[in-house]
Amino acid sequence: MSNSQPGFTPAQTYQPPPPHSQTVIIQATSSAGVPVSNEPTRIVCPSCHAQVLTTVKHQATTRTHCWALVLCILFCWPCVCVPYCMKSCQNANHYCPNCNAFIGTYSN
Ligand SMILES: [Zn+2]
Repeated sequence: MSNSQPGFTPAQTYQPPPPHSQTVIIQATSSAGVPVSNEPTRIVCPSCHAQVLTTVKHQATTRTHCWALVLCILFCWPCVCVPYCMKSCQNANHYCPNCNAFIGTYSN
């Protein structure tokens, strides 16, 4: 009974784990990308790749409704419409005017 110990793995059979397949995410250049304001932004459309000035559509959010409720309670009911008129209280959805692709949302 002079066998080598069971369970012992010689070093030469060791195999390093396979390297991860590297997925390189190509970032858009600094001129393009996520909208950074609630105003129309000049970007390169990810859909049609044209340089466009985005079309912004403001959308009331939960926060807009909360502001309306607060103003209604604290002041008076005509103030309810104020948050809906203020762009800063709403999300800005950017769309491409060329192909109408949705580009991104800017929230304050
Ligand atoms: Zn487009």
